[in-house]
Amino acid sequence: MIADPFVQLRLLDLQGIDTALNQLAHRRRTLPELATIADCDRRAAEVRAQLVEAETQVADLAGEQRRLEADIDTVRQRADKDQARMTSAGVPAKEISGLQHEVASLSRRQGVLEDELLELMESRETADASVSEFSGAMAVINTERSAAEAARDEVFAEIDDAIGKRGIQRGELAGTIPADLLALYDKVREANGGVGAAMLRQRRCEGCRIELSGSELSAVRAAKMDQVVRCENCRRILVRTDESGL
Ligand SMILES: [Zn+2]
Repeated sequence: MIADPFVQLRLLDLQGIDTALNQLAHRRRTLPELATIADCDRRAAEVRAQLVEAETQVADLAGEQRRLEADIDTVRQRADKDQARMTSAGVPAKEISGLQHEVASLSRRQGVLEDELLELMESRETADASVSEFSGAMAVINTERSAAEAARDEVFAEIDDAIGKRGIQRGELAGTIPADLLALYDKVREANGGVGAAMLRQRRCEGCRIELSGSELSAVRAAKMDQVVRCENCRRILVRTDESGL
């Protein structure tokens, strides 16, 4: 391929812009805030599961509490009714004895139910405390995530602005490079970790850092300045300058 030596030099400027664009894209992908957000999401998922579990437990205990309270109410009403019957006039002695027996039994039953209720209310207190604890933890994580998001968005805006400006520069510069040379540069760049053109400095390819010698060096020395030469080792476009040491 043939290209004006001055045009070949512009490939190094283009490479500089592309390297900067790559660095910006890398910085955008690897912002520490992104790791913080991912960590918040992971922790939030864990805490949310614990919160749901605690809330379910509270709901179950509340249902159980209502059931016990209704049972206690039923037992108490029955005992009240028995008491009223016993004190009313003209009740046969045999029935009174039966009622006394039933009232004693209801009283024992009420005691058992009330003990159960007390125990249940203690469990409820523990479960309520868990809900508060996990809700608080969620709030802390959400605050941390929001702060990381805000910081991320601020840096994103900065990076995107820089990418936009570099993109315009690249467009302008690429427009001055012949299509065939630009296509070669882009192809080589994509295949070689983002570096398509490298300066030949002191007989060393700046792309792969290998020093040219022997027949390769002779060939580059013999090549006309408008000939596009490539590194035999890394295949990048070698741009010759005053510093090439030829
Ligand atoms: Zn090389």
